Amino acid sequence: MQILLAEDDDGVAGALVEVLYDHGHVTRRVTRGRDVLTYHRSSDLLLLDLGLPDVDGLEVLRRLRAVSDLSVLVLTARGDERSVVRGLRLGADDYLVKPVRLTELLARIEAVTRRTAAARAPRTARTVRVGDVEIALDARQVRVDGTEVELTTKEFDVLAVLARRAGTAVSREQVLDEVWGDAYHAVSRSLDVHLTQLRAKLGRPELLTTIRGFGFRLGD
Ligand code: CA
Repeated sequence: MQILLAEDDDGVAGALVEVLYDHGHVTRRVTRGRDVLTYHRSSDLLLLDLGLPDVDGLEVLRRLRAVSDLSVLVLTARGDERSVVRGLRLGADDYLVKPVRLTELLARIEAVTRRTAAARAPRTARTVRVGDVEIALDARQVRVDGTEVELTTKEFDVLAVLARRAGTAVSREQVLDEVWGDAYHAVSRSLDVHLTQLRAKLGRPELLTTIRGFGFRLGD
């Protein structure tokens, strides 16, 4: 497997590259967050340290998730609950706190890889249908009754968060976190504006339910 390792500590990186090599993985090691965004395409999995010298790892993860569903395993000294929850909510597949046992790391890499393979098998599942609304998550296209509807980037992002969990209640914090990268940001009001716009553009207000005091749900 081709692994991208974002780690600025030479000692940690050296040990990881060696053990990964011994287990049949080829590792490209980078030291900066921005390099992740340059090299992610040629990798099967990303091992991401959060304390990077240029861009914080969580911000790297947020930016990466906007363009890629690459498997990401966060590997960090930051073990506080808020960081762990943020990391997972931003789309990390797993989160390991340093110092990590290498056998555990290898097992986690295997587990993430297995889950990703299973999730990717039915590619058609990347299109979500709710009533006569069709949301193609990869193509970022939305059709209502067969006609394409133009959405802004943020409107689509909000819709995509709900569509990936269609039929399930999604909390307001989760939408804010996934779209804006912060569950407690002051853009909270802007989310309501985007939802109003979305309802108007889709013309199917009954499909987009507000759950008072919690969040939203797309579909039944
Ligand atoms: Ca570091």
